Amino acid sequence: MRAPLVVGNWKMHGTVAEARALATAIRDGLKRPRGVEVVLCPPFTALAAVAEILGAGPIQLGAQTCHHEAQGAHTGEIAPPMLAELGCRWVLVGHSERRKEIGESDEVLNLKVKAALAHGLTPVLCVGETAAERRQGLTFTTVEGQLRAGLAGIGPDGIARTALAYEPVWAIGTGVNATPAQAGEAHGYLRGLLSELASKEVAQTVRILYGGSVKPENADTLIAEPEIDGALVGGASLAAPGFIAIVRKAARVGAAAKE
Ligand code: PEP
Repeated sequence: MRAPLVVGNWKMHGTVAEARALATAIRDGLKRPRGVEVVLCPPFTALAAVAEILGAGPIQLGAQTCHHEAQGAHTGEIAPPMLAELGCRWVLVGHSERRKEIGESDEVLNLKVKAALAHGLTPVLCVGETAAERRQGLTFTTVEGQLRAGLAGIGPDGIARTALAYEPVWAIGTGVNATPAQAGEAHGYLRGLLSELASKEVAQTVRILYGGSVKPENADTLIAEPEIDGALVGGASLAAPGFIAIVRKAARVGAAAKE
């Protein structure tokens, strides 16, 4: 049984003061989230402030990326131990915006997954096809390439400590989400690959999140898909009421699945 996981990706939004207000509202609105894990990924500049607000409570802290080395001459970069020191337990790896805007390659992302695991962070490896790739029937080819490269050289134990996010690029920030059937099909394909790369048992434990225009209105039907284990939420994580509604829906779906 995989407990649903909801991750808020705040991207490049929020001064420290705004991040404090948003984290406080989410924390106070989700006093005791039951049957669901919740992670907030603010910008680096707000991590310390949000860590203070979340304290030892149930909502966890994550970062939006990390460098693959523990230290060094890499101007502007942030290393995994620096994130761990601030209380991060999660880190997004390979978000499509970073693949596209920063040019992060599958090879570098593989190093980042390994670095995150080595420093006790849970990587959320993001994969997903563009609209053109889907039109050309290349959805599975694309996500398979990204998954195999991202997890290259990582054994079953490491894969068991990793989460995935299927984020079709055409659904991110567009308001157009994948249908539950489209997402469920891609998730099933990814889980099949995990069985091959690790084992069937490990594949059954790895959470595969769906990301791409998740909102309170569509969260339950998406997360109710048996292969969808939660959501990576961008835009809708920037307002506490909507994000809290998504978390509550995920918790309800998780509870219903247990019955
Ligand atoms: C994301 O940033 O990972 C994302 C899915 O964004 P949005 O929810 O805004 O589509």
